[in-house]
Amino acid sequence: MSLVLDLKSLNADGHLDLAVPPETANQWSKHLVIETANPVKIDLKYRFSDQGLFLEGVLQGTILGDCHRCNEPTPGDVELKVRARYLEGTPPRLGERRQDEEGKWGVELDEEAGELEYYSGHHLDLTDWLRDEWALGLPVSLHCGSEACREGAAGGQETRKSIDPRWQFLADLKAQMEEEG
Ligand SMILES: [Zn+2]
Repeated sequence: MSLVLDLKSLNADGHLDLAVPPETANQWSKHLVIETANPVKIDLKYRFSDQGLFLEGVLQGTILGDCHRCNEPTPGDVELKVRARYLEGTPPRLGERRQDEEGKWGVELDEEAGELEYYSGHHLDLTDWLRDEWALGLPVSLHCGSEACREGAAGGQETRKSIDPRWQFLADLKAQMEEEG
């Protein structure tokens, strides 16, 4: 399993089928009590343009955690849409202005392009991007959906677990990212 692309072996556009073993995915989401049960399937379309390498696709996996209400083991399916653009070079430092070959200043951020990442040479490592997408995309809590659990919740017997501060940080971050669109 490698998430490192050899750019020399890619066409102008195409398709990538990758997979991440559950052990790796669990390393990515160590801060959560949710476990990844099966390999995470990564299905990406790619396209080179003069604005970099565009990647777009879906991460798909199954997870296992405890129901937030009744603590029963609860499986869940996760499907995350991801997109990113990779530029060759090094990330600009904050406040640094850059001039491209045509003399235009600045790196124009295309909102449609998603995350902007950087690479150098002809090897491009997707790990950091995919790790962040997976770790931030996982649900913060699971609900089993069983009748007994729902009735328990409706009857006010909800077993509220206090929120781990690390979870709260992620929940806040997620809410903030969703706000920013
Ligand atoms: Zn439940």
